[in-house]
Amino acid sequence: MITIADISFWGGVGVIGSSKVLIEQGEWRVLLDFGLDFQPGAGLFRGSVRPRPGQILKDRLRVGGAPWIPHLYRADAMAGLDLAGGSDGHTALFITHGHIDHVGLTGWVDPDIPIYASPETQRLLEALSDSGQGTEGGQAKVQALQAGAPLDFGPFRITRYPVDHDVVGASGYSVETDDGIVAFTGDIRLHGRHPDRSLHFAEQVQGARALVIEGTTLSSGFRHAQKPECDVDREFENCLAHTPGLVWMTMYPRNLERVEAFLAIARRYDRTILWPDSQARFLARWALGEAQALSDVIPTAIAEHPERYIIQMEVSEIPRLLEFPHGPGTVFIHSNGEPLGPFDPDYALLHEWLTLAHVPFWSIGTSGHASPDDLRLLVEKIHPDILFPLHSMEPDRLLPPPGTKRWLPERGGRRFSLA
Ligand SMILES: [Zn+2]
Repeated sequence: MITIADISFWGGVGVIGSSKVLIEQGEWRVLLDFGLDFQPGAGLFRGSVRPRPGQILKDRLRVGGAPWIPHLYRADAMAGLDLAGGSDGHTALFITHGHIDHVGLTGWVDPDIPIYASPETQRLLEALSDSGQGTEGGQAKVQALQAGAPLDFGPFRITRYPVDHDVVGASGYSVETDDGIVAFTGDIRLHGRHPDRSLHFAEQVQGARALVIEGTTLSSGFRHAQKPECDVDREFENCLAHTPGLVWMTMYPRNLERVEAFLAIARRYDRTILWPDSQARFLARWALGEAQALSDVIPTAIAEHPERYIIQMEVSEIPRLLEFPHGPGTVFIHSNGEPLGPFDPDYALLHEWLTLAHVPFWSIGTSGHASPDDLRLLVEKIHPDILFPLHSMEPDRLLPPPGTKRWLPERGGRRFSLA
């Protein structure tokens, strides 16, 4: 029987994050990413409003925060809903990287459904889970898929390729169907430490039937060229060289390559980075032995020698600014940590506290996402028949090159035929 492959989008439509791309052929399904909306200032569950305990998945399904896909979820988590639960043996899930907007719903997946990711992502998710930062619904079992080694699943042949993003183990995928290859970038960039990976992926999927590409930076506000990661290291070093007092910082611990670079720079300036407990546990589990918890250092030691420390701050701990010397000589470094940006209500609050304490704010970071011109370069290199810009507030700002059709993904799972 001849079947036609189609593709539908269950997240990432008009929003940055929550990617879920479903490719179907006959009875068979490949799902790429299974993320949770992560928008601190938006969504029905935010601030103190959380899904009801014991009803979390059901609440998400009912308000449209989780996709209505049959034979995907654990039957026990969705009992009473009119949707078939449990695996039918025809679904497999592939994860591009370990950010919550790409893995956040995996805890609800039926354990008989295979979930694949890079070995680094598998390790990252285990380290997060072991340090109390696992996914809701429990920790899914993730299998490591070697780069470049194709995996056959039903009518599909799936190959994983490393790409560069601001988290270890980021991957793009090629999904071969009877109607051609669907390539998915996941989150990708060309200005990080490994642009070669992203470019190699683009070469491998050249001429794909369809390309699903992230478009985070297409939104207004991201019009400038992106700074390379090596500039971030240099600016951090420059900041330490000119700061006589305590350094406060917020960075994203999952960006482990930046963590390693900052630890090495801090060492050169005789400073110890002090982490919140859960982050110290996570870094220790990742085998960064020198991650020291803030709670292990007596506050008087910091007060006496503020020049020896860098404190990684959690938003809930902002009042600790009052505990240590502040004012001139102290700085706050924002390096892509939480609160992530002005869209998060905590961002303004952080600034109010810093103003109160007369602590200057240094923004030292760079995006995990390709600039609009780099996106365009990737699209031109791959030159697919069909282009789907996803994971973007303004996907229509990505113009296709001549010969490529652009289709805008639609909310609610409309199927696009690939034939
Ligand atoms: Zn993302």
